[in-house]
Amino acid sequence: MVQKYGGTSVGDAARIRAVADHIVRTAKSGKDVVVVVSAMGKTTDDLLRLAGDVSSVHPPREMDMLLTAGERVSMALMCMALADLGIDAVSFTGSQAGIITDTIHGKARILEVRGDRIREALAAGRVAVVAGFQGVSTDRDVTTLGRGGSDTTAVALAAGLAASSCEIYTDVTGVFSADPRIVPGAAKLARLSFDEMLEIAATGGRVLALRSVEFARNHHVPLQVRSSFTWEAGTTIDEEEPSMEQPLVTAVTHDTSEAKITLPTVPDKPGIAAKLFHGLAGKSINVDMIVQNSSLHGTTDISFTLPKADLQAGMQVVEELASEIGAEPPQADDGIAKVSLIGAGMRTHPGISATMFEVLAANGINIEMISTSPIRISCVVRVGAVEQAVLALHAAFDLEEDGTGN
Ligand code: ASP
Ligand code: MG
Repeated sequence: MVQKYGGTSVGDAARIRAVADHIVRTAKSGKDVVVVVSAMGKTTDDLLRLAGDVSSVHPPREMDMLLTAGERVSMALMCMALADLGIDAVSFTGSQAGIITDTIHGKARILEVRGDRIREALAAGRVAVVAGFQGVSTDRDVTTLGRGGSDTTAVALAAGLAASSCEIYTDVTGVFSADPRIVPGAAKLARLSFDEMLEIAATGGRVLALRSVEFARNHHVPLQVRSSFTWEAGTTIDEEEPSMEQPLVTAVTHDTSEAKITLPTVPDKPGIAAKLFHGLAGKSINVDMIVQNSSLHGTTDISFTLPKADLQAGMQVVEELASEIGAEPPQADDGIAKVSLIGAGMRTHPGISATMFEVLAANGINIEMISTSPIRISCVVRVGAVEQAVLALHAAFDLEEDGTGN
C-alpha cells in the first residue's frame, strides 16, 4: 500500500515520530508499505522566499534543484525515525524511484513510473520512503510536479506498483462540503466519485492536487483522504456507483487564486481565439473559464481566467496579439473569485443553476462570468463577496453536517 504524508503531518520531529509509529503498525500487519513524504511544514514556501531574497533571476532548472531538497530532508528523517522503531527503511529521491517526467520545470508531468528500486526494497522486506513532488526528466534533470505535487507522486506510485490502496494523510479529516474555515457547519463527505473530486480540486478545494485526482481517475486508483492527527476514517474517492441515488449538490467550493483578462473588440473572424490560446498554452498557462460573445458590430470580447501567478505572462501574450490584430488594449483584473457548486446528481436534475443564481441575487452578489460542466456550475464574483456566496449557497442547498443533503 501507499501512504502519503503532507507537510503538516511531518512538520516537526514529534510529528515525524508519530507518523513513523503509524507506519510501523501498518508494516507489522504484514503489508508492503511505500511512504511518500512532503517537505516539512512551510519548507517549500521558505525555499521560494530564499530564492527571491538571493536573486531576481530564477532559472527553472535551479528552482527545481532547490525545491526538491525539502522532500529529501523529510525522507531521510523519516527513515531514521523508522530505524529507531526497529524498522528497516530506505529512502529514494524521485529520480531514484524511477519517476520519469517531461522537461517542463516547475510543473512537470509524469510519463512513466519505473519503481525498480522500490520493488527491490519491498522484496527485501524494507519500507520504501519516497520524496514526493519530484522526478527526473527525459533530459536527466531533476523536476518538480507543481505545488502540492506529492499527492501526484503517491497516486502515480500506487498505479505503477499496482498498490491495493493509496492513503493520503493530511491535517484535515477528509473532504468537506465547503471550506470549514468559512462554513463552520460544513459536513465531512464519506464518499465521492472521481469526477466530483476532480471538479472540487479544479475549483479551489485544496485537499488534493488536481493532477493527482486526474491520475487516480485515469488509472483507477481509489483514494482515502485521512487525518494524521486523529487517524479517524476520512473520505473515500472511488468510481461512481451508477445505482446510487446521487445528492443534487455535494459541495460548494471557492477559489481566490485566479485573475481575469479581457480582450475587447476582437475582429469576429476565424483564427483569433486559436492564436490567443495557442500563445497561452505555449507558455504553459492553464486557462480556466473562457467567455466569448459576439457583439452586433462585428467584434467580440474574449474574457478568460488564469492563475494569478501567470497574470503577467498572460497579459504579455494578449497585449502582443491585441496590437497585431488592432484590438483595444486588454484589461487585467485580479479582484475576482470563483464560487462553484458540485454534484453528480446535477446530471439528471435541471434547475440547479437557476437556484444558484437566485441565491446569489438575493444576497446582492453580481455574477461576472458563468461556466458549467455536467456536474458543476461556477460563477465569477468580486473577491469581497465570495465568502458570503459560499455561506449562502451551502445553507440554501442544505449541506450542513446534520442536513439531509437535499
Ligand atoms: N512541498 C511541495 C509543496 O509544498 C509539494 C507538496 O507538499 O505536495 O507544494
Ligand atoms: Mg505541501
